[in-house]
Amino acid sequence: MDAQLPVICAKCHNGAKKTYNCDHTDYAEYCTECYTELHYYLTESGPGQDAQGAKRDSGDAP
Ligand SMILES: [Zn+2]
Ligand SMILES: [Zn+2]
Repeated sequence: MDAQLPVICAKCHNGAKKTYNCDHTDYAEYCTECYTELHYYLTESGPGQDAQGAKRDSGDAP
């Protein structure tokens, strides 16, 4: 039952049933895990998002 999966993730090189791509992946096919992980890190610390002088109120204690 080890049928070859249709697509190979460009990052982890594992077969995936479904892959995703966007400009963040350079339009390479990423598996769900890698794709999610990539965007997780992008949203965690993305420089260049606060251009309106908004203060970063992260979880810093006062
Ligand atoms: Zn992957
Ligand atoms: Zn993206």
